[in-house]
Amino acid sequence: MHRLGRLGRRPSRSDDQQRRVWLIDLDNTLHDASWRLMAEINARMTGFISDRLGVSLQAAGALRTRYWHRYGATLLGLIRHHGVEANDFLRATHPDRDLPPFVARRPGLRRELAALTGQRWLVTNAPRDYTDHLLRILGIAQCFDRLVCIDDMHSISRLRPKPHPLLWRRLIRAAGRRPSELCLIDDSAANLRTAHRVGIGTARLWASPSQRKLGWAHQRPASALRPSYVRVQVNSWPSLIRRLGDRPQGRP
Ligand SMILES: [Mg+2]
Repeated sequence: MHRLGRLGRRPSRSDDQQRRVWLIDLDNTLHDASWRLMAEINARMTGFISDRLGVSLQAAGALRTRYWHRYGATLLGLIRHHGVEANDFLRATHPDRDLPPFVARRPGLRRELAALTGQRWLVTNAPRDYTDHLLRILGIAQCFDRLVCIDDMHSISRLRPKPHPLLWRRLIRAAGRRPSELCLIDDSAANLRTAHRVGIGTARLWASPSQRKLGWAHQRPASALRPSYVRVQVNSWPSLIRRLGDRPQGRP
């Protein structure tokens, strides 16, 4: 009887949940990078650009911001316009063994990640060494089925990091799932927008209280305004798990 039941059964909700692939960003999604770390990385990027291009720190800082807005990653602008080697830039600008003083740990994150049933893939535009060190410091190195770092984001020998749509299509193919069975959890509007366009579910999470406070519009915090390409928008991991954790309505 039990066996017959299994033969004829329809996919259950738990099958649906097991098939999900969560694409989870690192900085300002899994931890508050704006607390100290982003300032350090930005300062190192500005110093690198100033040294490499022979411009003032002020001009280098302006260029860093301009390329970030235009390409979604400062590195892409430096490769395209100045022939910078990706590895040189990434090694010079991201702390690894010297990370601990820049990272704020938050209890409960490992348990919250475990409540996202299915596969969990970390997808970050940061380099592998930095990512490995950071995950260990945060105590969540064992929580991911796959790490996709900027080192893995070459397509036809060109770097295609977030928010490039080719990256999302590669991940959909690699997962062997329908796009709607994937969900991106990220703080970046640009990343969420392109993921939504290829059919991936989207959840915006600000892990950084300092970043949340930055954006105000129409007398309301920007976090209260949800763009159409974002299905779920929250300010914390506990809120995200309440919305997307293991339950029927938990589908972005
Ligand atoms: Mg981020």
